[in-house]
Amino acid sequence: MKVHEYQAKQILAEFGVPVPKGGVAETAGDARRVAESLGGRVVVKAQIHAGGRGKGGGVKLAASAEEAERAASQIIGTTLVTHQTGPAGQRVKTVLVEEQMAVARELYLAVLIDGAAGRPVMIGSAAGGMDIEEVAAKSPEAIHRLEIDPATGFQPYMARELCFALGLTGDLMRPAVGLMAGLYKALAAKDASLAEINPLVVTEDGRVLALDAKMNIDDNALFRHPELESLRDKDEEDPTEVEAAEKGISNFIKLDGDIGCLVNGAGLAMATMDSIKLAGGEPANFLDIATANDVQKVVDALRIIARDPNVRAILVNIFGGMARVDVIAQGIIEAQRQMPAAIPVVARLAGTNVEEGERLIRESGLPVIRADDLGDAAKKAVEAARAAA
Ligand code: GDP
Ligand code: MN
Repeated sequence: MKVHEYQAKQILAEFGVPVPKGGVAETAGDARRVAESLGGRVVVKAQIHAGGRGKGGGVKLAASAEEAERAASQIIGTTLVTHQTGPAGQRVKTVLVEEQMAVARELYLAVLIDGAAGRPVMIGSAAGGMDIEEVAAKSPEAIHRLEIDPATGFQPYMARELCFALGLTGDLMRPAVGLMAGLYKALAAKDASLAEINPLVVTEDGRVLALDAKMNIDDNALFRHPELESLRDKDEEDPTEVEAAEKGISNFIKLDGDIGCLVNGAGLAMATMDSIKLAGGEPANFLDIATANDVQKVVDALRIIARDPNVRAILVNIFGGMARVDVIAQGIIEAQRQMPAAIPVVARLAGTNVEEGERLIRESGLPVIRADDLGDAAKKAVEAARAAA
């Protein structure tokens, strides 16, 4: 789950990371009032779940409360397009109004769970503010990496090492060490997969603080954090993914292709996507209904897949272990009956109660395309999608 910058800053502040004073506003009038309370010289920042706002016109400096009001009225309600939003952009509902900082230096600091290292890694660079991917590609030596043993946690000597590498020396070191420790604590305490500060700034008056903040929370750990539930902003998420989650289909990810996949088990989902690609097609989603012995869930899943206008064929790939193929078959039949403008369905069914499942489909008289194995199913799904195109 992603959260907004202002929410990430609230969390980081709880863990002792200094952030600029500010407040959120949903109207230009509110932005003006927040700016007034901050003395007028502020930054007005669009709150969307994407970065690159600076270059996209979503971050405006204002020298007075009147200017802040004008800036907010230019930002709120518009659709911001940045290199991270995709071409459709994202509508701005809220702005963060913050005191303006006199910035002397912009750095980069993040801590994230590194799957390859199998542990948290803190990353810092003296070249902050800009695209960190670009820095990593052009001058990898400017990126400093620290692996953290989760058993012993983030140690002050590590922070000092990173401070030297980033030039945060002298009077800056103490506050920077505290900030780094706070950043790590926030990641660990909130089960975040990423906590990123870009830019981390040194101000003209010698303070170190987070001018921007981004946090991603591990969805699989959300049950441990009821306090984070209210931070979810469904308007920023893919609507079909939101609906799938509400219907208890937790493993649904929308992709860009035209073949919908209904699968049980994440491994089978990945094998199915690989097979579609091998057959020359592109999956429209990753949908794992797990061991849902529930006809309605199968219908819901197929309905969610069919609603995607890109979907031209559906591949049902079920290996019944705990899952019962006859229940899945009933779901396929029911969904086909409810959606007469049917998208062609290719079914490869195997495992528990497969004979009964096959019989139900045969006797339904519905045009379900049968496949013997996964390769065959993928080939037929790609053909069906092409024919429908
Ligand atoms: P992003 O582009 O979405 O990552 O948004 P950021 O929050 O990182 O803001 C973009 C840029 O705006 C920063 O890199 C800063 O250069 C600038 N900026 C933001 N707040 C301030 C501020 O208080 N003072 C100054 N001087 N610049 C700021
Ligand atoms: Mn930024």
